[in-house]
Amino acid sequence: MTRPSELMRPEVLERSAYAVADATGLIKLDAMENPFPWPGELEAAWLEALRGVELNRYPDPVGRDVTAAIRAAHGLPAEAGCLLGNGSDELIQILITAVQGSGRPVVSPVPTFVMYEVLARAAGVRFVGVPLAPDFDLDVPALLQALEQERPALLFLAFPNNPTGRLYDPGVVAEVVAANPGVTVIDEAYAPFASHSFLPQAGSPPGLMVMRTLSKLGLAGVRLGYLAASADWVDALDRLRLPYNVNALTQRSVLFAFEHGGTLERQARLLREERSRIAAALGSLPAVRRVVPSEANFILFEVAAGRGRAVFESLLDAGILIKDVGRVGGVLADHLRVTVGAPEENDAFLAALAEALRDPA
Ligand SMILES: *Cc1c(COP(=O)(O)O)cnc(C)c1O
Repeated sequence: MTRPSELMRPEVLERSAYAVADATGLIKLDAMENPFPWPGELEAAWLEALRGVELNRYPDPVGRDVTAAIRAAHGLPAEAGCLLGNGSDELIQILITAVQGSGRPVVSPVPTFVMYEVLARAAGVRFVGVPLAPDFDLDVPALLQALEQERPALLFLAFPNNPTGRLYDPGVVAEVVAANPGVTVIDEAYAPFASHSFLPQAGSPPGLMVMRTLSKLGLAGVRLGYLAASADWVDALDRLRLPYNVNALTQRSVLFAFEHGGTLERQARLLREERSRIAAALGSLPAVRRVVPSEANFILFEVAAGRGRAVFESLLDAGILIKDVGRVGGVLADHLRVTVGAPEENDAFLAALAEALRDPA
């Protein structure tokens, strides 16, 4: 009994590992990264700040200073607890592991961020996807019915959603939270680009949790996410967290970034402006069938039926990597997702796209 297939569940082995496209030499607009490197003086000051880190010692096990900086910068409710994760992916895994024995499923509107389903399956927890409405807004009656029928342990709501970019109506989300007999995790990975946040409500009611990450703001390389929830829940979930899950270099780098927060905020503002510019440009291309309104740092758009893959490949030939989310078919067929990049990258994308759409089918 030594082969994986003899010891691991087929539903895990069926899936491929999380695939990341090779972007060498390409304009990289596929992964919702901040396109701007730090200016030279800031980088020099960061390297100086890292000097004090003692690599021979374990890091602060609870990241006390980082947590304090997050609380101050993002305004967590004073009564809420805060759990740090090695990216928010790790927090999703902790949450799902926590409810593994409950016999209750994980529910999320779909299409959405794939890790909710991937990590539920890995843990042997049933995942129930509730289809979004055709305009990718919440199908409220269907969702309410699923909550009643399935009584989920966890409902994940990506707010705004990935890969659609839609921000659901906050009043409707509040209604869903109230109707959910389990925990609602509002995943605010794109908060720096969105017009509404539930962070002030984290922990009240006790089943309402808000998850954030620094990845999309501009620190994808450091891997830090956090979960704001009632103190009770944070206490309970902390028992499943691996010791020292947030390393010393991450902790020091994040503290430094909060001390110099202005740069990342200014970059986020520019990216929001660029998002409007790209959306308007996409909307003016007759061969683009729809542009989904986005409150994130990416835009989902649809091209003519059967043309998605060809347009993606034509962009790739032009040196531009975006995401062919239509590959999975279904409601996302012929949809492409472009991350908002630096102005000149966006210009290159729009020019190459206009060219690609001119190609005869
Ligand atoms: C990118 C993303 C995450 C993962 O963030 P990390 O902190 O980098 O692990 C979580 N949720 C959503 C909706 C995302 O798009």
